[in-house]
Amino acid sequence: MNALLEPLHTISFVLHGVAAAPGIAIAHAQLVSHATLEVAHYDIAEADLPAELARFDAAIAAVRAEFEAMHEKMKGEAAPAEFAAFLDVHWMILTDIQISREPKRIIEADRCNAEWAVTQQMRTLVEQFEAFEDPYLRERAHDVVQVVERIVKALTGTSSAIPVGNRNEAAALVAHDISPADAIHFKDGAFAAFVTDVGGATSHTSIVARSLGIPAVVALHNARSLIREGEQLIIDGDNGLVIVNPDQQVLAEYALRRDSQRLEAQKLRRLVAMPAVTLDGTAVALNANIELPGDLEACHANGADGVGLFRTEFLFLHRDDLPSEDEQFEAYRTVAEGMIGKPVTIRTFDLGADKRMAGLGDRPSENPALGLRAIRLCLAEPQLFLTQLRAILRASAYGRLQILVPMLANATEIAQTFALVERAKADLRARGQPYDAAIKVGGMIEVPASVLAIGYFLDRLDFLSIGTNDLIQYTLAIDRTDDAVAHMYDPLHPAVLRLVAQAIRAAARAGKPIAVCGEVAGEVRLTRLLLGFGLTNFSMHPSRLLEVKQRVLTANLADCESFANRILKSDEPERIAALLAKLNTL
Ligand code: PEP
Ligand code: MG
Repeated sequence: MNALLEPLHTISFVLHGVAAAPGIAIAHAQLVSHATLEVAHYDIAEADLPAELARFDAAIAAVRAEFEAMHEKMKGEAAPAEFAAFLDVHWMILTDIQISREPKRIIEADRCNAEWAVTQQMRTLVEQFEAFEDPYLRERAHDVVQVVERIVKALTGTSSAIPVGNRNEAAALVAHDISPADAIHFKDGAFAAFVTDVGGATSHTSIVARSLGIPAVVALHNARSLIREGEQLIIDGDNGLVIVNPDQQVLAEYALRRDSQRLEAQKLRRLVAMPAVTLDGTAVALNANIELPGDLEACHANGADGVGLFRTEFLFLHRDDLPSEDEQFEAYRTVAEGMIGKPVTIRTFDLGADKRMAGLGDRPSENPALGLRAIRLCLAEPQLFLTQLRAILRASAYGRLQILVPMLANATEIAQTFALVERAKADLRARGQPYDAAIKVGGMIEVPASVLAIGYFLDRLDFLSIGTNDLIQYTLAIDRTDDAVAHMYDPLHPAVLRLVAQAIRAAARAGKPIAVCGEVAGEVRLTRLLLGFGLTNFSMHPSRLLEVKQRVLTANLADCESFANRILKSDEPERIAALLAKLNTL
């Protein structure tokens, strides 16, 4: 066919983004709509207006009932004041005539459907809020959108922005953005890949994609508007490319590459039961990062030596209430028992920044990554923190658990954490519930301040774990979720390498265990460099374990150390890259 006469959908083009999860997928596009911004608009006949008004009233009543149930549930729990405040604001918005009545006027005046009327009214209100100078009032626009989202969900009967019912292995999700909370739900369903307009390689959405073992490309800027439903896509998660409507030759080449990757992965399976030991006999612990107890299967399938990071905040996401102490205890006990005597590091919840639960860690903030996040949020909500600490301590009677605290930056936080751990232990003693009295408490090294003042951390904490995702973000001042600066997020920046090496070597001198649990631990091109810094404990997504083990098995520590020292002396990115490439070919 003459190219000019070809239908539009066969035009092939390539989009460049940031590689978020490796692998190649060939799949058809499934577009994800925003729950409220893309509702249908249709006319309502005059005779049907009373029914449409009743439908709207029923939706308002349903959301009221949801709020009442949340309110009731909160009464019996150690819910933070912030959560109650959030609920109050949403209740006020819901019951205000601007939301509960004005859309009815629009339905009658415009003879339109209820979803359309309420989103029109939402736009008007959002504009009014956004015009305020006061940042608190401006932020309320966000609350209006959230309340309207609930009403629309009640009207349409859908509960998620992601089309749950239509999951399909041959589909690649194409979205403007996918929240970590939505991404974690993909664990229950099969998609071939996903691509988003926004995000960075170490945003939590990308981290979840890696744990799912599906390719993902983020920071594509306008994929959602350029790609059309059903178009064929090649998602190249190794190089951050999306090829839309590929021709037969490109398709054949990628199919070949995908098949040979599958074959390689198959071959690696023979390493599952083999201990990870370097050529010169140094044993290396290769642990797994998990988000939910359901990830244990992947840990065993990939021969994990233990769980090095359980990101417990995922138990808090994608829900309207808080997980109770018993519910958390069951989750932690499942992991403790499921690892059958292997060590399990449970990180206390790291909410805030890009992992937001409605009403918690959700305060208006110009810089959420620098705000009330992780341990700061825990200490601001001690009842919530105590609930989690008691749940972890109770589970410690069923396996080898240790507690890891995220984002510690100063002495006060460490002292307050220990005080709360002691209080949680006292609560359990008073209740007569068993726990491991010698449980170890460690801290994450995620802010440069903690490396520069590491002596204090080594004195007080039982072990350390370097969270390179945040350490890079805070060292280079690069928001890990911002696609506009994603290309500058650089694990090989000399400042980052020196901080990582300094922390590892200081811990070794002090005789304190230290691990790396950020994404660099699972990057095979960095395995030998980290070994050269002296690292012997890595924690990564289960899907990365076998490739990293292969690297460890072929590494000679003396070579790794000599190259690592030369790399640490250099300030030149090109020289660092060249030395690293050479180390990886030895
Ligand atoms: C990190 O920051 O490297 C880390 C492991 O924690 P998270 O990615 O959950 O912030
Ligand atoms: Mg972190």
